[in-house]
Amino acid sequence: MTLVVGIEGTAWAASAALYDTREESVTVETDAYQPATGGIDPSEAAEHMREALPTVIERALSAVPDGREVDAVAFSRGPGLGPCLRLAGTTARALSGTLSVPLVGVNHMLAHAEVGRWAADFEAPVCLNTSGANTHVLALRGDRYRMLGETTDVGVGNAIDKFTRHLGWSHPGGPKVERRARDGAYVELPYTVTGMDLSFSGLMSAAKAATDDHPVEDVCFSLQETAFAMLAEVTERALSLTGADELVLGGGVAQNRRLQAMLGEMCEARGAAFHAPEDRFLRDNAGMIAVLGARMLAAGDTVAVEESRVRPDYRPDRAAVTWRDADPGQSHERGVTTVDEPGGERRVRGAEAVVDLDPDASRVHKRRVSKDYRHERVDARLRRDRTVLEARLTAAARREGVPTPVVHEPACGRSASSSRGCTPPVSSTATRRRGTSGSTPSGRTSSTSGWATTPTTWRTTRWIYTSWKAVWSARRPTPTRSSRPSRAATARPAGRRRP
Ligand code: ATP
Repeated sequence: MTLVVGIEGTAWAASAALYDTREESVTVETDAYQPATGGIDPSEAAEHMREALPTVIERALSAVPDGREVDAVAFSRGPGLGPCLRLAGTTARALSGTLSVPLVGVNHMLAHAEVGRWAADFEAPVCLNTSGANTHVLALRGDRYRMLGETTDVGVGNAIDKFTRHLGWSHPGGPKVERRARDGAYVELPYTVTGMDLSFSGLMSAAKAATDDHPVEDVCFSLQETAFAMLAEVTERALSLTGADELVLGGGVAQNRRLQAMLGEMCEARGAAFHAPEDRFLRDNAGMIAVLGARMLAAGDTVAVEESRVRPDYRPDRAAVTWRDADPGQSHERGVTTVDEPGGERRVRGAEAVVDLDPDASRVHKRRVSKDYRHERVDARLRRDRTVLEARLTAAARREGVPTPVVHEPACGRSASSSRGCTPPVSSTATRRRGTSGSTPSGRTSSTSGWATTPTTWRTTRWIYTSWKAVWSARRPTPTRSSRPSRAATARPAGRRRP
């Protein structure tokens, strides 16, 4: 039964906490830095840290029960702003010396992930961390959390804050955007997901420009719908890739109720459990540092003062996970999650598409399924653009002599291949609409010399790749199937141990 003091000081939150493992209780005391204008100024934030930390620590220590003593001091080693980290680090070293207890150096982003796992009592969740400076998806494999996807430029929170700064709104911008988005309508903004990675700077610039032509409520609404759909897509890909059926959230942006609703809906559709911790554990706080610090202490993962320098660029995948059994990583075949349907049918569950295997008929049916969690116009646009891109790539590969599957359109039962490559698939509806002008699902008017793009067409369009077995098995091994069944058939409630 231990008592651990946590100290957080990576950016805006001068925070201290006391975690009691006997009671499973966490006391958190935070004093927030609020910039007078603009965003966070690192030296001003460090100055705030210097003034506020002694008081919050004193308040946290006042929660130590009579007759008990603190067992360790845990602090955020990084990532974060150098001046703030150094101040909080020095404070933590001084306190551990004064109390004569061990020092524990915690990775701040892993603390976001682990406090969610602790609160939900999950075994091996995927974690989506969405804060100001950081945006990434984590999952344990071996003795490390792996970064399965991350932003290639700014964190989603910083993108939102920069957008609101453009409007002259005070920091932080996220809650203000959430409020204004309630009355908004959708306007198209750029959606950038590349594989498992995300990019927010183009979205932020387009949102700024859109305020010249659209009501700010509409831009706020669309910014959220676009950014959060991107986050949900990458998270679903991570669930699919790992075969995990648990998701936890971390970071200040995760306080957003629209983001929580989208992810909850996505998990429910997949039969995965979802947990969004209380707001006080989502934004920066020392509670999560104390909780992970206690686990590290129990594993003997302490740090000598002379080796405890802070690490402003401390990525979560650089920290060895000492406090839990290594994940052998063999419980699933990476890349393919299969689900046994009630009728005995085996189905590959991807993130954006459902693939039905029919080896006897040498066929694979691939459907780019509609996602209810995202706005219908975002959904229609993505499925249309990606289907077109896939058709073009298949055709281009065929022109270069690469064996490609023959694409059939089921409504008319016609092979769409040609000697020059695959013709894009069309449905019977589309055939009728050829050569006409129409409105696309995204609201753009287009000349349909290619094929029609009504939502009905896209819902009913099926790609059937025939001869896949002959073509693919000749060139590469048959696709692997995981035998691991989905653990949760339906979404199940989480959070049985919320502090
Ligand atoms: P980290 O060090 O973990 O990267 P941080 O210093 O960015 O964290 P957090 O408290 O995790 O701090 O996150 C702050 C961000 O969260 C800010 O960008 C803020 O605009 C955003 N935010 C706060 N509340 C909301 C909300 N309701 N909706 C969207 N964004 C929000």
